[in-house]
Amino acid sequence: MPDSPPPPVFRFAPSPNGRLHLGHALSALLNAEMARAAGGRFLLRIEDIDGTRTRPEFEAGIYEDLAWLGLTWESPVRRQSEHFDAYRAALDRLSALGVVAPSYATRREIAEWAAAAAGTGESVPRDPDGAPLFPGDAAMLPADEIASRRRLGAPSALRLDLPAALARLGGAGGEALFWDETGAGPHGETGRIAADPAAWGPVVLARKEVPTSYHLSVVVDDALQGVTHVVRGRDLFAATSVHRLLQALLGLPASLYHHHRLILGDDGRKLSKSRGDTSLAALRAAGLTAAEVRAMVGL
Ligand code: GLU
Repeated sequence: MPDSPPPPVFRFAPSPNGRLHLGHALSALLNAEMARAAGGRFLLRIEDIDGTRTRPEFEAGIYEDLAWLGLTWESPVRRQSEHFDAYRAALDRLSALGVVAPSYATRREIAEWAAAAAGTGESVPRDPDGAPLFPGDAAMLPADEIASRRRLGAPSALRLDLPAALARLGGAGGEALFWDETGAGPHGETGRIAADPAAWGPVVLARKEVPTSYHLSVVVDDALQGVTHVVRGRDLFAATSVHRLLQALLGLPASLYHHHRLILGDDGRKLSKSRGDTSLAALRAAGLTAAEVRAMVGL
């Protein structure tokens, strides 16, 4: 008898840079529910690559809040900060493909360039999140300054060389990149979605202080953990274009994607940890039950 296929794998992947809020509750509960319905596995992954923003008490809060919601997950939990070598290896593979380029502009220079561009009243191209598209070092630094930083080995960010990456894929078969979406994008997009990585410009793959990036580590981990179903908020729908591009370059399989609705605050904006929106801890302290939280997120 043939072996039965391996069970589908789902994951909830929060970053421990604040307390979880109702949006996270929806995401975690949906993941666990879809895993159960599919006879699949449910993993928790801690996305803590940015040591300047993550804190141990927030990680402890994640376990506490999820357990309170009644969730269980497999152990050991993968903590990204323990796997920089895996991201480094992926970065090296991308470098060997010739699709990585150093960029010497600092965050401050980029912010100053964006502010100056906004001040001229001219509209600058923006990425799907609304941030000005990175125009290249040459747009904000004199050529001799770039040359001297390169010569001095100044710390740089590593960015995707987008034209090289797209050319590489064109050469490798040429078929357009896409993903299969069982949820929906911000404009109701569903089904087979054409990826548009160019909309993001030359994304950062590693920074001088963090030797990887969200995009790179999420793609590496989803593949390493055999994740078959990525269920996450609609705010990450557009980022999937970058993830598909990296997967294609690295020869990694594509998951199925399900982007779910967001829980909005009273002001109609997406909840965020930084805005101090109603955290699960605060709701719990106020006497709400896990069942009431489920109802609040519409489950
Ligand atoms: N760590 C990301 C976040 O907290 C989610 C990553 C993902 O689901 O792909 O927003």
